[in-house]
Amino acid sequence: MIKINSNYAKLQSSYLFSTIAKKVSEFEKTNPDKKIIRLGIGDVTLPLPGACLSAFHEGVDEMGKAETFRGYGPEQGYEFLRSAIAVNDFKRLGADVEADEIFVSDGAKCDTGNLQEIFAGDIAIGVPDPVYPVYVDTNVMAGRTGIFRDGRYEGLYYLESTEKNKFVPAPPDRPLDLVYLCFPNNPTGATATKAELAAWVEYAHRHKALIIFDAAYESFIRDKNLPRSIYEIPGAREVAVESRSFSKTAGFTGVRCAYTVVPKDCRAFDAAGNIEKLHPLWNRRHTTKFNGVSYPVQKAAAAVYTEEGRKQTRELSDYYLGNARLIRENMLSLGFPATGGDNSPYIWVRTGSDSWEFFDMLLSKAAVVTTPGSGFGRCGEGYIRISAFNHREKVVEALERIKQVLG
Ligand code: PLP
Repeated sequence: MIKINSNYAKLQSSYLFSTIAKKVSEFEKTNPDKKIIRLGIGDVTLPLPGACLSAFHEGVDEMGKAETFRGYGPEQGYEFLRSAIAVNDFKRLGADVEADEIFVSDGAKCDTGNLQEIFAGDIAIGVPDPVYPVYVDTNVMAGRTGIFRDGRYEGLYYLESTEKNKFVPAPPDRPLDLVYLCFPNNPTGATATKAELAAWVEYAHRHKALIIFDAAYESFIRDKNLPRSIYEIPGAREVAVESRSFSKTAGFTGVRCAYTVVPKDCRAFDAAGNIEKLHPLWNRRHTTKFNGVSYPVQKAAAAVYTEEGRKQTRELSDYYLGNARLIRENMLSLGFPATGGDNSPYIWVRTGSDSWEFFDMLLSKAAVVTTPGSGFGRCGEGYIRISAFNHREKVVEALERIKQVLG
């Protein structure tokens, strides 16, 4: 008899975005004349930057000629991309990351979801609340939690991100073994200072813990004092892995390319407490289960680091940040406390009422789709997330409609 992994039964069946999609499609059916504006899901709307597109085409053409055709590439990614990443994303910041510490992949979702596989089943895990659901659900699937009760899984420690701590939780008094941090944050849009990250790095050293640092939204940071990488913090190489993505940086959500840094100094421990380096373990996992990102996609990603590519990708994030500023300012002027949106594409708005009720009200009265904060965790109740990923004219129109409803 083939038995299922019973941990899957613990998962919450209605994934946030499918519930939203269902509500939106019902609304569309009953209101066919209303034009819906989507500021919910975090998907980009602008096309690929020209530099990436040309490199993508070149890569495809090379695959069509015998002299330049390529079959399987290195599972960890081509050297040309790994070194461009090391130099441009890290060494430029003064962060010590080498090309062979970078593992190119098809998504930060997969990486942040898969990393837990190399750790024991009985580790103590800290996740933010509100949270990008992948960190939680992959640990549920792996059997590291109890059941879901009152909006939380038993066995996980929730790092509460609230107005009190400006949505940046400090390390707790208790020891944790694995901690997920995400800055700029999805969904709150919060950013962490160097001192705040340094407190986590110190905590990880003190408790022999590991930090999974998700920097998928790094390209939206404009404040020069904010860290772009956890490796700007001294001592982070031993205690942190970092995932980044070309999805939001360069409009690659449909193209698929990302990477994770596992420094050679990064360590965990075996059952007897002896140090085990994570780099060979992740290399083993990655090469066993993954066969590399396609060559044309890696060529397109490397074009991000050319002079033209840098300029064009900056324009992309500037555009979305312009939307974000409009959203934040308008919500504030309507009297709703709002954070994020300055170094992040998400605006976290305090609604003063139930998240789903507010979501339903904006959908039915303004035909604008947002994301109810409670879908990201208990601390998200009473908030909605508004995404800046849409065309400027749609954002402006959505804000006009919101003003009519709430003004
Ligand atoms: N990490 C965070 C915090 C995200 O919000 C997202 C996408 O929305 C991802 C990772 C996924 O990135 P990718 O498209 O590279 O899988």
